[in-house]
Amino acid sequence: MIPVSEALEIIRSQCVPLPVEPVALDQCWHRVLREEIHATEDLPAFDRAAMDGYAIGRDDPAEEFGVVGELQAGGTWAGAIGKGQALRIFTGAALPPGGLRVVMQEDVEIQGGKIKLRRRSAELNIRFRGEDARRGTRLLSQGTRLGGGEMAVLASLGQTRPQVARALRVSHFVMGDELVPPGGTPQAGQIRNSNSSLLQGLLRDMDLAPRQGWLRDDVEAALQQLRSEAVDQADLLLISGGTSVGKMDFTRPLLERLGFQIHISKVCVRPGKPLLFGTSGNRVAFGLPGNPLSHFVCFHLFVAEAIRCLQGLPSRPGLPSAFLEGGLPGCLNERETYAPARISTGGGRQHLTPLAWRSSGDVVSLIDVNALLQIPAGTPELAAGAVVSYLPVTH
Ligand code: AMP
Ligand code: MG
Repeated sequence: MIPVSEALEIIRSQCVPLPVEPVALDQCWHRVLREEIHATEDLPAFDRAAMDGYAIGRDDPAEEFGVVGELQAGGTWAGAIGKGQALRIFTGAALPPGGLRVVMQEDVEIQGGKIKLRRRSAELNIRFRGEDARRGTRLLSQGTRLGGGEMAVLASLGQTRPQVARALRVSHFVMGDELVPPGGTPQAGQIRNSNSSLLQGLLRDMDLAPRQGWLRDDVEAALQQLRSEAVDQADLLLISGGTSVGKMDFTRPLLERLGFQIHISKVCVRPGKPLLFGTSGNRVAFGLPGNPLSHFVCFHLFVAEAIRCLQGLPSRPGLPSAFLEGGLPGCLNERETYAPARISTGGGRQHLTPLAWRSSGDVVSLIDVNALLQIPAGTPELAAGAVVSYLPVTH
């Protein structure tokens, strides 16, 4: 049995980032950038009017100006703007050279073909060439997940096919003869399969759409099914259930028969001890203990980290801390525990409220969870207000 930190080190060292591919910008949302993006030109590329108004000489002391022309965004003005002259100009238009300022239209009075200044502001109202970024500046780093803002930067630079990580292919299978589909009626001793729905949601929160299936507790039949479903095409294979050492726990032999070398078989964590992690070439597999809460904990602690590594995202940073609400009596355990909890902000501080959980099989404890409270091994009771660490989880 290895500690959580060691399991994470093994996972990080074994997961090789996926290959990269150029992808059309309009398909890049939430993909992971795998190249550095530098400004190939100054941003903005030329001095632009920041307001609708009038361009005049920056130090022209006149009170009245003759309007010599009009310039919209997208146009250019070749003429000069002399003393006592103004150019009607609109937001975004390229400012002609020659030390100008833009007077807001709200600050002038229009009198025929002339304008009169109502007030003089110190503002130049110009967006200067290169003020956002100078040509050559690094703007986006490798391992950036592309959202709307980053996509806008790529568009501004004309980067229409950035190099991103290939989409991660995930296959997920539940295993167990006791399972019936959520729409089925369990016979005596049977239960509805909830782990497919759980993993579907957790993976979707990471922008991944898994292929899913159900295996019976029979290695040969399961092997045949996995092969027929081209599971060797998956970058990440997840099998739910059958990870301990019971007579019907077939996940380890199954992964081994598929060619995976097992690097982790037990982690000193509660819940979630019988976790399997293996690799075959660059492909990665996990066997997740079947209980729903174990699933939830193992996914956030280990699978999510493997996904980040495969996509080329930075490793998870250290756990943040919060003040414990209510305290926790007698939580002494030899294993590091990750307990369902709810994090909230109040009075400028983070507060963590533990949620009730009866066992690792307690699916109800997953309602409203947005954090997992880390309780180090051997921790005696925790007093109210104690500073605790937690793993944030999406909700
Ligand atoms: P296992 O890891 O196969 O030993 O399963 C541990 C516990 O989780 C058992 O009580 C199983 O019935 C339960 N379990 C296994 N798979 C699922 C599933 N897909 N949905 C809900 N519970 C499950
Ligand atoms: Mg089972």
